[in-house]
Amino acid sequence: MTASSRLALRGDLLDFTGTPAWGALDDPAVRFRPDHWLLIEDGRIVGAQAEDPDARWTREDHRGRLILPGFIDTHVHCPQLDVIASYGAELLDWLNTYTFPAEQRYADPAVARGGAERFLDALLAHGTTAAMVFPTVHKVSAETLFEAARQRGMRLLTGKVLMDRHAPDGLRDDVDQARRDCEDLIRRFHGQDRLGYAVTVRFAPTSTPAQLAMAGDLCRQDASLYMQTHVAENRAEVEWVAKLFPEARSYLDVYDRVGLLHERAVLAHGIWLDAQDRALLAQRGAQLAFCPSSNLFLGSGLFDWVAAREAGFAVSVASDVGGGTSLSTQRSLGDAYKVQALAGRRMTAWAGLHAATLGAAQGLGLSHEIGHLGVGTLADVCIWDWARGPVAEARFAVARELHEKVFAWMTLSDERNLAAAFVAGVARHRRPDPLPHP
Ligand SMILES: [Zn+2]
Repeated sequence: MTASSRLALRGDLLDFTGTPAWGALDDPAVRFRPDHWLLIEDGRIVGAQAEDPDARWTREDHRGRLILPGFIDTHVHCPQLDVIASYGAELLDWLNTYTFPAEQRYADPAVARGGAERFLDALLAHGTTAAMVFPTVHKVSAETLFEAARQRGMRLLTGKVLMDRHAPDGLRDDVDQARRDCEDLIRRFHGQDRLGYAVTVRFAPTSTPAQLAMAGDLCRQDASLYMQTHVAENRAEVEWVAKLFPEARSYLDVYDRVGLLHERAVLAHGIWLDAQDRALLAQRGAQLAFCPSSNLFLGSGLFDWVAAREAGFAVSVASDVGGGTSLSTQRSLGDAYKVQALAGRRMTAWAGLHAATLGAAQGLGLSHEIGHLGVGTLADVCIWDWARGPVAEARFAVARELHEKVFAWMTLSDERNLAAAFVAGVARHRRPDPLPHP
């Protein structure tokens, strides 16, 4: 099937037109259009209406289901799908024991290709239609991810991982070869179809100062490039960075000194930042990916979202699989709620869903393309059951207000609720056993 047709999807449309206020249950930024048709032409959203569209439209009736923009996972590792749910380690041990051996296998193009395809299909099956992804140090791991995303029509940001020290054999590059590989990948993939290149520094400890400078140089030469890395995830890691870079004021400053903090930069975690770091993130326009599932699973710490909002930098919510234990955005949002609850705060469903859709898109400079159901965006949309199974059905039946319903959905649902995922108006995932529908 091609996207050059008129498609109308019927359901309860939910998205955001702005940033919901923290703590507000009734917020004008929430756009809820119950029982509407979402109109899609040539892969783009062209409107929404309550009236039935005429016979020129191919109609899919999902009345009684929830239609959301596809989720955007701003921090996730393709090769780590193979080590998800690994027992008993904090960050630095976990990398050495589980992650690095899994990543070594991606030197083999067949492993890289199979892994990329399995990974993207898994994202789609969880309702995630766009992502910023870490592959491995191997050039082929980025190539295969780009190619697999292109085949699926997906918005994907990735780049070969830079790491030239403190990593085992088979997982280190060197500055000159890495630069040549990055430049070749940028030329072949950046800005092609829906692909974007992200200069990908694993984290400060695994790059020499010379390699960090090279990464910053790439970003300076082309302001349209993205950047992704990790920062201040774990206390032992922060201490290690302080020893490796004694001249830097902080872990974040290691990146700022070489020009890696900019409007297209996404940094994962940021648990152990101080007020000066937060002000710097806001000043540079960089986005922080909050990864609550991973932070809890690896015992890394509790992210202070309210301090981030007060400082004024963008926060998205990401899975960080394989430190995170699920690709499900709802599971990540459920964990995000609990992390904030431990600090005596309450994250609304609006704050959570906004961070996984419009907020993430705006942070990436992509809200003209993804993140909401507005006219002109590409139709990356997912159709969800409001409730699946007797417990969720009973809860949903007694929910009254819209926020109560959506919060119960966010907390009780997962990928089993996903009926279909569309990418640019093309169904790329359908549940094999859809529930009977009226
Ligand atoms: Zn990560």
